[in-house]
Amino acid sequence: MRALSIRVRGIVQGVGFRPFVFQLAERYKLAGWVRNTNQQVEIEVEGGGVSLDNFLRDLRERAPPLARIDEIEADARPLSGYGSFEILESQVGEGWQSIPPDAATCAECLAEVFDASERRHGYAFTNCTHCGPRFTIIDSLPYDRDRTTMRCFPMCEDCHREYEDPRDRRFHAQPIACPTCGPHLWLETEANVSAEEDPIVACAALLVLGKIVAIKGLGGFQLACDGANDEAVARLRSQKRRYGKPFGLMVPDIDWVRRLCEVSEVEERSLASRERPIVLLKRRADARIAAEVAPGLDTLGLMLPYTPLHHLLLQTFGGPLVMTSGNLSEEPIAIGNREARKRLSGIADAFLFHNRDIYARYDDSVVRSLAGTPVSLRRARGYAPVPVDLPFDSRQDILACGPHQKNTFCLVKGSKAYISQHIGDLDNLETLEHYKRSLELYQRLFKVEPQIIAHDMHPDYLSTHVAHEFPAPTALRVVVQHHHAHVVSVMAEHGVREPVIGVAYDGTGYGTDGTIWGGEILLCEWRSFQRLAHLRQAPMIGGEAAIRKPYRMAAAYIWSLCQASEAEFSSFFATLPLGERIILRRQFDTGLNSPLTSSCGRLFDAAAALLGLRQEALYEGQPAVELEAIADADTDYVYPYDILREGDGWVIDPAATLRAMWCEVRAGRPISQIAGVFHKTIAAFTVAVCRNIRDKHGINRVALSGGCFQNALLTRLILADLLESGFETLTHRLVPPNDGGISLGQAVVAYAIATGG
Ligand code: ZN
Ligand code: ZN
Ligand code: FE
Repeated sequence: MRALSIRVRGIVQGVGFRPFVFQLAERYKLAGWVRNTNQQVEIEVEGGGVSLDNFLRDLRERAPPLARIDEIEADARPLSGYGSFEILESQVGEGWQSIPPDAATCAECLAEVFDASERRHGYAFTNCTHCGPRFTIIDSLPYDRDRTTMRCFPMCEDCHREYEDPRDRRFHAQPIACPTCGPHLWLETEANVSAEEDPIVACAALLVLGKIVAIKGLGGFQLACDGANDEAVARLRSQKRRYGKPFGLMVPDIDWVRRLCEVSEVEERSLASRERPIVLLKRRADARIAAEVAPGLDTLGLMLPYTPLHHLLLQTFGGPLVMTSGNLSEEPIAIGNREARKRLSGIADAFLFHNRDIYARYDDSVVRSLAGTPVSLRRARGYAPVPVDLPFDSRQDILACGPHQKNTFCLVKGSKAYISQHIGDLDNLETLEHYKRSLELYQRLFKVEPQIIAHDMHPDYLSTHVAHEFPAPTALRVVVQHHHAHVVSVMAEHGVREPVIGVAYDGTGYGTDGTIWGGEILLCEWRSFQRLAHLRQAPMIGGEAAIRKPYRMAAAYIWSLCQASEAEFSSFFATLPLGERIILRRQFDTGLNSPLTSSCGRLFDAAAALLGLRQEALYEGQPAVELEAIADADTDYVYPYDILREGDGWVIDPAATLRAMWCEVRAGRPISQIAGVFHKTIAAFTVAVCRNIRDKHGINRVALSGGCFQNALLTRLILADLLESGFETLTHRLVPPNDGGISLGQAVVAYAIATGG
């Protein structure tokens, strides 16, 4: 007989960990107890030595599906002579704990929902300790029913029995519910819907008729319509005022995925994971989907149902549904019933409501497989607030306010980085409200009192104002350059501290010289960086307007980089309206409202315009996304480019590249090939510069970050070229390469500057 005292840390609460421990103890005939405290699960067990060994092994290897074990500590202790094994009351004190994110319906719950003999047959809010809502319904800790939006549903006798039984899958499942005691659904339309009719059947019937329905989901309302109905999808687009940007689709099952897209094993695993993100997949040529779902793209964003409500609806409907955030374009997703009626009534024909409140606003997450690795492009439902482990233990709490576009913020406590869910672009009051409310919730839940506050270098970003106004007068404010944050964010994900060559390619970021950066190759450490190379600058004629009209970027490059040869491009200029061309030229000559940029995103814009692919961008990055979609990289040459010395570094001049492309356009070469060679050229000059830096500075590790690395082709080509040149590479996995990942980098830079680390 021996006795052990065990402490388990990680995500071990709200995931059925105590009943799991209870059942293990029963199985190995051990006595003792288990209890939750704020920071960990504590266990005392005693019994035979072999049984204790088995118990410890199973504790680690057979933990329940939603658990994430970071650490198990076990110490021998004297025998206490316990007679049985018990689950003790939680010990709640000061501190913090990890909370599981929302998880897709588990197989057991799903089987019950579709089994006519079960009491939860057809019940849209079925869940258990292995699945269901978590973070979206919690308002404070410790996690129990009274602190969730389930508090207003007293359990019925049957549910209570399950809740109290440590052998039941629903033991202490805080959101436990059934048709007798739990939340319910109803449908509201202009026309009367009979109260007897099943709201899901009635909703599916409306969708079949081409109607748009606002559905209250897990992290907010979604707008749904028939994904194969051109008219319905076009109407949704114009009513939501979302032009160009692709819509996500929800399909009934994996067979439907295969019918619409090509899907690899890695991608199937992402689709079926309990996080259930939208996965970007290569679209099949014969996919029967409305053209307006993803205009101009060769990919579709697909997801599988993740709540019983979605499963029931998709089974009934029997085909792909557009499932997009319930908002007007650029606003945050609606969560309240009254709010939805107010904000979405101009878009939706009907509402599928329920009466379980949503506490935290969460969009669907997006994942794309890049060079065979699933990478987060939007980190929200299912992922946040699972912390990222840091390679250090900070004694001071840190707040990193994040960027302007695709904002997330990041809070650091100890060795954990809590990165918020995707908040959105901070350019309207609604989104700023969402930001402040989420920050307040995270601070409360994880008990963070920032003593270090990091923010972007841009003086006018709302996130910068948040940093200045944050009520912590003694906190140290640290300014972090955008691309430095990008690169350090990849380094932090991999626990890398040593200097790297950081390739940061994106649309926009405020540089240390006040110009707009975005095609940067930096020598990066956590604390500091040196800008060793960048794309040659061109003016953005008319500022932001140049993003909406990519031909302005093409003109700017031609005039500023290829001056001597404007005549060569005369047939390109002939495609521009004459009046505008004259105004543009005048603006170019005076430099009025034409900030200089070294952005790689803008170079993509110029290339797309030159190929005649897109003259008007409906969203930032659209020209680049379409250029990737048509690109055929199956060629064995690259265009010329120049790498010029400048000070201690280099400038990449793409003038020769643009000239060669234009030459090929005039020669009638297919634009798909030109687009492919353009991608290869970017990879070639990037790796050439990395080699120069390696020769001079002796660094062999390259980190890739920035929105351009959402481009699967560019990522694949650069990684292949780097590998061939013998470089070691770091790419994102946990946080997005786009600006959604910046807050993590900001936090780590600020930590390093504040501590001298
Ligand atoms: Zn379940
Ligand atoms: Zn019940
Ligand atoms: Fe960026």
